[in-house]
Amino acid sequence: MNYYENPRLAKIYIERDRDMIEGRRSMPEITYEPRGDSLHLSDVGDLCLLQPFFRRTMSYVPPLDTESLVVFTRGRVFERAIAIEGKPICVDGIWMTIDDAEPPDPFKIVEIKSTEWGMHFFDPVEKTPQWIERGMGYCYGHGVTEMGLVVFFLSGNKPDFQPRRGESYPPKGTPIIKGGVRAWTLEFTQEELDANWLEMLRRKDLLISAIESGTPIDDNEILARLPVRVWKNGKKNYWLCNGCRFRGMCHITAWKEFGVPAVA
Ligand code: SF4
Repeated sequence: MNYYENPRLAKIYIERDRDMIEGRRSMPEITYEPRGDSLHLSDVGDLCLLQPFFRRTMSYVPPLDTESLVVFTRGRVFERAIAIEGKPICVDGIWMTIDDAEPPDPFKIVEIKSTEWGMHFFDPVEKTPQWIERGMGYCYGHGVTEMGLVVFFLSGNKPDFQPRRGESYPPKGTPIIKGGVRAWTLEFTQEELDANWLEMLRRKDLLISAIESGTPIDDNEILARLPVRVWKNGKKNYWLCNGCRFRGMCHITAWKEFGVPAVA
């Protein structure tokens, strides 16, 4: 894989945003199409396979809390402010929808993301590998080996929720910025895309057999992908679980909170 920052791509989307805010363009459509039970790349390419399992097997799905609602809406509004979603396609039983039906040349695929990560030290491969995996899935499905990634930084260069040692916010000599946009070009080899797709199919099969049997996916499989921050005292923070709507009923959360080891 090869990736590099693409300021020209960022500028194109900043100008689209400017046109909308200054009344030269309207983007009225922000609703999600109902997805039913079909499996999406966002299910198999996300960080926890238990979430789509619970969504499809529980008779009562808890509502999103207010914080999650606001965060999801914010991201959705940003995506829709600057692009019209592509038509869904299905590849090997996995549905996928690209963020922009009319991406700028030379791209056929541009993914649009928003995040609370601080913008100056952000590296998409290091910080958000799940975006890369999903992006590779889109490339595989659409038969291309290159894509654009546009990221809206909702907190600008203010401290993010996971600063690394040695990183000061904002960087020395830099004024505080409350919001910003960066973009990258991502290039993959066909072998990388094929291998990534095999992994997506493996997860799809895991998910389908779990749903059909009503038995949750193996805990080690889940814990291997759950993002974790380890504090100096050794305590672990599985931050994805903090805002998860299934937290109150998820056995993995119960184990973590009640101290029963789930991983050898
Ligand atoms: S609480 Fe954590 S492990 Fe359980 S479904 Fe939610 S994100 Fe996954």
